[in-house]
Amino acid sequence: MNESKHPSDIAREALKRLAAGQLPPTPANYQACYNEIANLPNLPVFPDQQLRELLVELPARNEAQEAHLDRLSSAIARRSWQGVRESLAAFALAGETKSPEEVAACVATTLPGEFARKLTRFVESVLPALGEDNGRISCVVDELLGLLKQPLVDIAQVQSILGSLAHQAVFAAEEQVEIKNSLLKLLHLIIQNIGELSSDDSWLKGQIDGLLASVAPPLTLRHLDEMERRLRDVMEKQGRAKSRAVEAQEEMRQMLAEFIDRLGSMNRSSSEFEVRIEETARKIEKLDSLEGLKPLLNDVISATHAMAEETAQSREQLKHLQDKVLVTEAELMQLHQELDNASALARHDPLTDALNRKGLEEAMEREISSMRRQDSPLSVSMLDIDNFKRLNDRLGHEAGDRALVHLADVARRNMRPSDTLARYGGEEFVVLMPDTRLEQGIEAMTRLQRELTKAIYMAGSEKILITFSAGVAQLGAEETGTDAIRRADQAMYLAKRAGKNRVMGG
Ligand code: GH3
Ligand code: MG
Ligand code: MG
Repeated sequence: MNESKHPSDIAREALKRLAAGQLPPTPANYQACYNEIANLPNLPVFPDQQLRELLVELPARNEAQEAHLDRLSSAIARRSWQGVRESLAAFALAGETKSPEEVAACVATTLPGEFARKLTRFVESVLPALGEDNGRISCVVDELLGLLKQPLVDIAQVQSILGSLAHQAVFAAEEQVEIKNSLLKLLHLIIQNIGELSSDDSWLKGQIDGLLASVAPPLTLRHLDEMERRLRDVMEKQGRAKSRAVEAQEEMRQMLAEFIDRLGSMNRSSSEFEVRIEETARKIEKLDSLEGLKPLLNDVISATHAMAEETAQSREQLKHLQDKVLVTEAELMQLHQELDNASALARHDPLTDALNRKGLEEAMEREISSMRRQDSPLSVSMLDIDNFKRLNDRLGHEAGDRALVHLADVARRNMRPSDTLARYGGEEFVVLMPDTRLEQGIEAMTRLQRELTKAIYMAGSEKILITFSAGVAQLGAEETGTDAIRRADQAMYLAKRAGKNRVMGG
């Protein structure tokens, strides 16, 4: 057994083996030979000398590093690779210059449960707004949510992920804005195109202009909602007009085909008649006795009869066709008339472009449900132009119409974007004011009165002062829209009674 060999014997033998193998007499070669003879594992040589040199050159910047250098020194002495590795790694970490706050933040700690839950909910709820198909963001978010689920969370790590998320979110948000703008441009183009396709329908043109106006930024949910309703109107009317026009066209086409058939057969029967008469005339020329004339005359009479009958029949059929054409024509006229009136079926009043009664009903329903959902106040105002009949009588109905448009414009310019203007009747308008208490509603209407007196309405060269009387009512918790409008109307009536050009609360 080699174990029994004396170390000096092994050393001697190792030297012999070095010489016999003509190996350079380096410590590593000597060690390898020694290990082999002593039957020891041939471990790589531990570079204690080099490590010690390194140890001298490593500068300690703080106390922690000093302690790690001590540990490194003892690991070298013990020839422990693991000790060297660990103390070097700890030495490097302790060298990172960190503020005391950062050092404290590095410590794994328990985030308050509520905070982690809120942060998780916040991140999950903003994620869709940044585009759910954004791979980079999903990665960062997954990492963050995973981290937040753990009982012990490294706050510094959460902070660094949040920083990176914020960075990605800025890019994503910019991208979303661009996408939104491009979609708007596209929508604009499509609407314009629809408008051009139907340029001969004046009612549709009005709707399209309104649509284009509602596509203009800033884009709000209310805007989009209005746009959708208008687009539905347009599509519905267009669809109805088209299918009816196709039917009418088909009827006309069939009648035309019948008419041509009739003309053709009329032609045929008259040429048959001619042939028959010519033949009889030739026979008459050749005739030498009177007896032969009688049957020939009978022939002529019967041919003439047949011809007359045929002609009468054709005339009747043509008359019938003509009647049918007239009916179809009348139907087409009616269709045009219907289309002209179609705006009345839509949600907007064609003159002022305010909502009409139908549009008001829908808007009221929406506002009431959002009022109940958000537990916020909602006020309605009924306003009626003062002495409008007199204006009409003095300046004519058209000037009256333009005054209505003027009032609607001024109102729209001065209302909040969330308010809704509707034409309730001839010269009566309703304004819906969400998030508005009674006193604020009265204030808003009084402000509108002031603005209306400032925005001068010109009828030709004459400056006309338009005023209105208004009543305002705040919706009761259980009240219907109709009841609130009725209260506003009663208040408006009181304002008229009190001398007009004023606002009263109901
Ligand atoms: P008051 O101050 O009491 O409201 O008096 P008024 O003359 O405004 O009220 P009244 O209700 O007696 O008359 C309203 C008039 O509005 C009657 C009608 O000729 C006119 N009018 C209703 N609709 C229209 C419209 O679309 N265009 C025009 N130009 N006039 C209209
Ligand atoms: Mg009136
Ligand atoms: Mg009036």
